Amino acid sequence: MRWPYNARVSQLPSRKESNRALALQIIHYPHPTLRHVSKPIRRVDDELRGWVAQMFDLMYEHEGVGLAANQVDLPYRLFVSNPTGDSQQRKEEHVFINPVISKVKGRQTGSEGCLSLPEVSADVTRSKQIHVEAFDLSGNLLEFDLEGFIARVVLHEVDHLDGKLFTDRLSETALFEIDGLLEEFEIDYQSRLDAGEAVSDERVLARLADLEAART
Ligand code: ZN
Repeated sequence: MRWPYNARVSQLPSRKESNRALALQIIHYPHPTLRHVSKPIRRVDDELRGWVAQMFDLMYEHEGVGLAANQVDLPYRLFVSNPTGDSQQRKEEHVFINPVISKVKGRQTGSEGCLSLPEVSADVTRSKQIHVEAFDLSGNLLEFDLEGFIARVVLHEVDHLDGKLFTDRLSETALFEIDGLLEEFEIDYQSRLDAGEAVSDERVLARLADLEAART
């Protein structure tokens, strides 16, 4: 997979290449943006709406049910979701901006995967029932009482906005079982850095700070 923000594109910002740089891609563990704690958004503009549309496309393309902004290298407190995973079921599509979870109850354990950790899955224990409030792209306040799988999806995505991955919630034993897979991702990322295909952590963080200044 090619990384969207490489040095060549940044140094030669012709119009065509700038546009290409704005095409979102899903980033994989251990990209530093996955550890970014996002701040609430104060401004929604056409560019952000375009990115949200791309996030839905990427989510369906990769057979996901939720995708957080961190996962496409954006430092914004928002995620998209369709728990059916079916792009035809538009009524199930939601954008959650600045989500806040409350009224958590119960516990449930179930298998989870993540588009930033392809081919990795494990059982994760989370709250069973939640209340979530968030804004949509038009500034309307959404409120949902969720239970079961949908609650799990929302909790997984809100974790992303706090810089957490589902692997952070595993027991040492469960983590040990997938340790080899995680190491493969780490080796792959390091080789991309060494080959100049991934940008340095410093440049990633500088870019996030610029994007954050524009909308938070
Ligand atoms: Zn995820």
